[in-house]
Amino acid sequence: MTIKLEPGAERPRCACCNKPLPKHTTAVYWNGYKDPPAANREEAQRRTNLQIVSVKKHSDGKIWCAGLWDGVTWVGPFCTNNCTMHFAFAAYKAGYRLKA
Ligand SMILES: [Zn+2]
Repeated sequence: MTIKLEPGAERPRCACCNKPLPKHTTAVYWNGYKDPPAANREEAQRRTNLQIVSVKKHSDGKIWCAGLWDGVTWVGPFCTNNCTMHFAFAAYKAGYRLKA
């Protein structure tokens, strides 16, 4: 699951364990004849309006894959399925029900 916050918002934390949550990214691949690898990070950034947060390079240094982030979408509100279950059991024990 993902959560969206305002641009520039403080990094959110897991609602269960309080660890910082990761950015929700999508991957783009430049490894074909029509989409050749980017020479460097600056050239790669010019190819997208999203923020490049990670890259994978060939041995010659050319970038063939980039992780893109929209600046507002985070993985969350829990960091793992375990945290989701912990939170659900705690909510259940505290009396929370989705339907009365
Ligand atoms: Zn967690």
